[in-house]
Amino acid sequence: MRRGSWKIRIFIGLAIVAFAFIQRCSNKEENPYTGREQTINMTSEQEIAIGVQSAPEIAQQHGGLYPDERLQSFVDFVGEKLVDNSIARETPYEYDFHLLADDQTINAFALPGGQVFITYALFSQLNEAQLAGVLGHEIGHVIGRHSAERIAESSFWQTITMGASVGADAGGIVGSIGQNTLLKNGRGDELESDELGVLFMINAGYDPTEMIEVMKILKAAAGPNRVPEFQSSHPDPENRIEKIREAIAKYGG
Ligand SMILES: [Zn+2]
Repeated sequence: MRRGSWKIRIFIGLAIVAFAFIQRCSNKEENPYTGREQTINMTSEQEIAIGVQSAPEIAQQHGGLYPDERLQSFVDFVGEKLVDNSIARETPYEYDFHLLADDQTINAFALPGGQVFITYALFSQLNEAQLAGVLGHEIGHVIGRHSAERIAESSFWQTITMGASVGADAGGIVGSIGQNTLLKNGRGDELESDELGVLFMINAGYDPTEMIEVMKILKAAAGPNRVPEFQSSHPDPENRIEKIREAIAKYGG
């Protein structure tokens, strides 16, 4: 290799890294519903489209929708009550609550734009207020734009990794920093969603202390082969309950 070509490589690598940072800065915006500044590189319409497109496949992975219309109506009733009494109503998102037939996996999750899912296995363990807590938490992920944020973060880290591997052979190291960052964001996402969930429960007239019961149910249900979405990003359950208590005190439940 020609002498000095490594300098050019490092220069190009640094240029790519600089580009990633500039792009991330220009993609920063304040979330009007949470007040939090975050990196987003898609519109609300795109979030809704991603959610609507992915929903059937997600449902299929959980045995499809639960066949009993009455239980589905009940999930809709609680979900809509949360939306109608909170800032969720003022967002462009199109909320759709799905009860999944899966009676083995204890889980609930949200796709960007308003598609919310709960498995029958989890649903069957909850009273109405606890269901409101779970759905409120998932609405929190939608309003917090957590999926969109994570997509933007991962494209940022992909660009950084590319720059690093051009400049040197350090792609692996930077790649692992990226992973950690994603996980850290994940923990923050869960805590923000818990807090929003508590707020939405209070707004809709539910007892927010039932959110603490939800945490206990999830903790009890989580065996070695069951990692519910609620625990997938591993905030310490006790820490989470403590934060929920703080949120209840903050919003005057
Ligand atoms: Zn969550």
